Amino acid sequence: MADYPFYHSHIEISRDVLQSNARYLHRNLKSGTRSVAVIKADAYGHGAVDVARAVGDLYDMFAVANVTEAVALRKAGIMHPILVFGVPVPQTVKAYPEYELEAVVSSDEHFDLLEQGTAYHVEIDSGMGRLGIRPDDLERVRKRIASAGRITCKGVMTHFASADEGDSACMQHQIRVLAQIRDMFGGQFPLHAANSAASLDYPDTHLDMVRHGIALYGYDPTPEPSEQLRPAMKWRSWVAQCKYIHKGDSLSYGATWQAPAGGYYAVIPTGYADGYRRDLSGKLPVRIDERWYPQVGRVTMDYIMVWLDGDRYAAGTEVLVMGGEKNHAGIMADAIGTIPYEICCGIHTKVPRRMM
Ligand SMILES: *Cc1c(COP(=O)(O)O)cnc(C)c1O
Repeated sequence: MADYPFYHSHIEISRDVLQSNARYLHRNLKSGTRSVAVIKADAYGHGAVDVARAVGDLYDMFAVANVTEAVALRKAGIMHPILVFGVPVPQTVKAYPEYELEAVVSSDEHFDLLEQGTAYHVEIDSGMGRLGIRPDDLERVRKRIASAGRITCKGVMTHFASADEGDSACMQHQIRVLAQIRDMFGGQFPLHAANSAASLDYPDTHLDMVRHGIALYGYDPTPEPSEQLRPAMKWRSWVAQCKYIHKGDSLSYGATWQAPAGGYYAVIPTGYADGYRRDLSGKLPVRIDERWYPQVGRVTMDYIMVWLDGDRYAAGTEVLVMGGEKNHAGIMADAIGTIPYEICCGIHTKVPRRMM
């Protein structure tokens, strides 16, 4: 091959782990409750097509962020119903009937745009303050649904802002609006609201369908995480070089770290250009050969350095930079004050994903 395919790191996604997470998440659903696997942002960086294939038997529907993502799934042969969370725009309206996508409508304008025909869900903004029709307009929406000729309403949905924060005033407010939505649309159209956190912690919000994102990938967003969900993603790199340094020698930009004694360190070809965040500098260990070693000094664009102390590894030895019990995306997120969603989506698309 002319382009020398070789990668400095790659990501392995475990099909078994995804399927076991999905089965766990379905355990507390009442029979007849349908489920959506949310595979937007390339399945939170896990690879949307492979994830769709891996969990397709366990889910009734997929959801993505936009028409581009949806069309890619169709072109890969994914036949499930696909819900497109993003707003319809003139450039994409024809794609809905052509690829049999289900739209999400959150304004009168969207009804007008889609009048050529499509299945759609109406989104109500019950307090998230993002997309959706405000609850004051419920009555008008009801009339609009009734008069929308060629387009078919397949659901009414809303999205929670803080289902992952335990019992909050905001969640209670949204649950009250949900009761209004139920009164007006229940029994007429399938209703859905629950994300992963609500699916786990608020069974009353399951309604006709739930939408699983982060929990499917193995990160429990609730205040009391279950041991049953396991991260499906492992990020592997390798030792590019292993070198000896003396006590007091420093490593990396800013010379922020000095060797506590003479010993070896490894240079690993993964850095912030790959999505290994610079603010993780010196925070988490990597695993080599079943042993944990601290990453030391600043994370650079293409490399991190790892202190091996007395140990030594040959160039080419495999390194787990993320995905073990001490360095999975949930731990990474906590270490730098973000959420696993951002860590997983933040791994550069140049890093190849493989479903194993
Ligand atoms: C992303 C998203 C979800 C999934 O949320 P998780 O917290 O990942 O389960 C559900 N519904 C909507 C509208 C979303 O945008």
